[in-house]
Order: sequence, then C-alpha cells, then structure tokens
Amino acid sequence: MSDKPLLIGMHVSGSQLQAALVDASGNVLERVGANISPQNMVEQAAGVARDLNARGDISALGFAIPGLVNRQTDVVMISPDLPSTIREGLHAELIKATGLRVEIENDANAAAYGEFKVGAGRGSRDIFYMMIGNGIGGAIILDGKLWTGSSGFAGEVGHITIDTEGIECVCGNTGCLETLASAPSIVRRARERLHRDSTSSLSRLGLKGDFTADDIAHEAKEGDDFALMMIERTGKYIGTGVASVINLLNIERIILGGGVMDAGPLILNPIIQEARRRAFQPCFEATEIVAGKLGRDAITIGAAILAHDAGVN
Ligand SMILES: [Zn+2]
Repeated sequence: MSDKPLLIGMHVSGSQLQAALVDASGNVLERVGANISPQNMVEQAAGVARDLNARGDISALGFAIPGLVNRQTDVVMISPDLPSTIREGLHAELIKATGLRVEIENDANAAAYGEFKVGAGRGSRDIFYMMIGNGIGGAIILDGKLWTGSSGFAGEVGHITIDTEGIECVCGNTGCLETLASAPSIVRRARERLHRDSTSSLSRLGLKGDFTADDIAHEAKEGDDFALMMIERTGKYIGTGVASVINLLNIERIILGGGVMDAGPLILNPIIQEARRRAFQPCFEATEIVAGKLGRDAITIGAAILAHDAGVN
C-alpha cells in the first residue's frame, strides 16, 4: 500500500454516482458505481464513502456535480439535477454524513484539475480543458489555478455559437457547439442523415433499436464510411470551437476529454486540422492540442486531488 494520503473522488450525473479511491498521485485504487436519487443522495454517497474508507485512512472527499458551485461559500448555486432544498445544505450535510473534509466542484472543473495535475496537463502552467460527453463543458486553468470568471461561468465553450442557423440549445441560444458535437447531438445528426445512406452498418443498428455515440465511434473504427464521416464532421465542429479558444487565450495546451474523445485519433485529427485551418496561425503554433490521459476517471481523480490540494493550501 502507498503511504501517500488516500482520497475519495465522487461524481454525480443524473441518477448515477461514480466513486473512486485515489492516492495523491492520481492512481485509482478502487472504483464503485451506484444508482442514487437526489432525495437520498447524501446518505447514499456517505454509504459509498464508508465502504471505501473501511480502514479509516481517507483524508478528504471531492464531490463533483454538473452545475455551478461557489467555492468560497461551498454553496451549489445551480445544478440541473438537484432541487434547491438539497443544493443549499449539500456541503454541510456531506461533511456531517461522512465525517470527512469535503470539497464540492463543477464536474468539468474537476476533470480539468485532474488532467492538469496528474494527466495530459502535467508540465504546463496554463491549460484549457474541454469535456465532450452528454454535454460540452470547459475549464480554464491559469497559473495553476482554476479561473472561473466573475460569476463562475468561465469556460462554457459548449455554448459558443458554431452555426448561426442552427437548432435551439438548452441555454436558449441556437447553433451552440453542444447542439452539434455532444454525444446526443452526434446521434441526432446521424439519425437525420441516415436515410440517405442505407448501406451504413448504422442503419442495421438503427433498425434494431437505438444506437449511441459510442456505437458510431465503434463502427467508425471498424471502417464504416458513414460513421467515419459523422465522426469527422463532429471533429470539424469541435475544431471550429477550439480555433476560437486558441485565438482568444493564446493558451499553451488544450486538453480534450469526455466520452466523445474515446473515438481517439479518428476525432482528434479532424479537430486539429480544423483548428489549424481556422485559428490565427502564430496562436495555433503556440498551442498543443492533446487528448486527455485520464479517460473516464478524469472527474473523480480531479475531484479527489482538488480536495487534497484545498486542504494543503
Ligand atoms: Zn447553448
């Protein structure tokens, strides 16, 4: 066993709780998943924490949620999954139920911090992180610290406009990057186009029932032309967003994570190509665009390390 401090990172998304036992170097020693309901979330999270802390050697718990968290007051300001009665007392309730030091953070911020400290961001001072999954989130780390903007919303790259004629987004705008490149948007775009290409293996999957963005990536890896085209177009949309980030921030490194990036080079290459095509060249050349290294553990690892560092600093 490691003599380094042990931590727990948790991530709540919808009715799912993912938890990991993590050491201070970001190694995952154990993973636990559980179904939860918002009403019983604290007790359920505390139960998982107790199991992971059987030896009583955990030093902190990092708790990541989709939504906006005020890190000064530890109050969850906005979260699509949590009713306000749960949000307001969440931090105090989690401390009471687990007996641990608890830090709550937005999920994209947590993942960014994880990649920055122990993943693809190691060795850089400033990064932009993009999480492309069921939604698209982003985070900015400047000089080693999360830069959250004047009211906590900095880095919302999923809601920059890519298509001025596009469809309506959950945020109220139209044609946001999220409406084109999030996992559900990839599936929607594929469905819209599929009738034009009935030879694709996806038509077969579509006939059988629903297919997911993971299925599209899988078929692309197997060489299906239609699936490849869908992934490549998605990469172009993301690359268009990345070009704006490059021009705006002239940042050292852009790290791309989230489930959609599981498509690997099939999506990373068109992202880089499109960013090169659109960004101001000297800015582009000063930026490295890389895939995250922590995969689907990025959020839990990041939440854990963040909780650790918050106790040290
Ligand atoms: Zn939007």
